[in-house]
Amino acid sequence: MNKIRRTINLGALAAVMAAGMVHSPVFAAAAPAAPAPVAAEAQKAAEAVSVTVGDAVFYLKNSADYDALMAKLQNHFKAEGATVRRMDIEPEIKAQAAKTEEKILTVDEAFKMLLTGGREEAVYVAEETESLESVAKKFNMTVDEIKALNANWEDPLHKGSKINVLKPAPMVTVTLEQEKKAQSAVAFKTVEKEDPNQVKSVRKVVKAGKAGTMETTTCVESENGKVTSSVTEASCLVQEPVDEIVAVGTKEGLATGSFMTPTVGRLSSPFGPRWGRFHYGIDLANATGTNVVAADGGVVTRACMAGSYGNLIIIDHQNGTSTRYAHLSAFNVKAGDVVQKGQSIGKIGSTGRSTGPHLHFEVRVGGVAKNPLEFIKL
Ligand SMILES: [Zn+2]
Repeated sequence: MNKIRRTINLGALAAVMAAGMVHSPVFAAAAPAAPAPVAAEAQKAAEAVSVTVGDAVFYLKNSADYDALMAKLQNHFKAEGATVRRMDIEPEIKAQAAKTEEKILTVDEAFKMLLTGGREEAVYVAEETESLESVAKKFNMTVDEIKALNANWEDPLHKGSKINVLKPAPMVTVTLEQEKKAQSAVAFKTVEKEDPNQVKSVRKVVKAGKAGTMETTTCVESENGKVTSSVTEASCLVQEPVDEIVAVGTKEGLATGSFMTPTVGRLSSPFGPRWGRFHYGIDLANATGTNVVAADGGVVTRACMAGSYGNLIIIDHQNGTSTRYAHLSAFNVKAGDVVQKGQSIGKIGSTGRSTGPHLHFEVRVGGVAKNPLEFIKL
């Protein structure tokens, strides 16, 4: 429960009412039903709903306005996205059908009053020499009320002096028990499945994973909007994550999965557009007869004259990649040979469409030519 001492500030309420240009006092003590009014007064009395809060009473037009006031109060203190399970109001607010000659408040006026018509104790610190009367005015109190709140007081107060006062506060303490639901992602698992048809370097997603969803329910209790407790009640998986299936090759392959520079030479032409055409490899220039080695292990699928390539060797690394070595002056291998990474396969030459001795070297991934410099260092 709220430990702050609260009282109803009838003076402040009267001020709210004055703004509404009513002459009669707004609040009357919550007394038992008054004796039946005389006939003349009964005619002036309007149908209304009396709302009693502690010692205070005010009037609303009808029960629909009362319901709207309660809803507005609940919404004001409710956390965004939460569902209210229970609302307790202290002191209790009671409503009943009544006839009145008093001013009938709108829902907004009544709401404003509930939020600011109470008073709670606070400590006031004087910023300069100040009379008790001046402080009393600031808080809509009397000097006697201030004296009653303080065992020791001085008049005037000096700069820095502290004194207990009553400041505007809600007339009620609204306790809400709210339910909050939050969703969070649950990571999926990656499950590896051995694939004996693929060489060891191969790792392929065969089924994409999907994150699941966890829903957490929290019970949050608040007093006039201030959270007093928050308890996680339950967490449940509302959407199961879907495992990601990854095929991992187990076949002993010839390839290591990385390429080495196949010869010693000067980069005389890079990968990319050249002379209005596309150069699918790099050219490494060096003297005819310079040794050329397999960039990685694999099977020689071609070792023969091939048009503008001249003498060409193609090695299939059996992991989705292949390499090409062109313009050779000599072959050290033939189609079908198994070669190890770094094994000599031929010699630099200038056969085919070539303007001087060099090795034309290509790297293909899934059949598509890639820039060899992404795989080797010169
Ligand atoms: Zn070339």
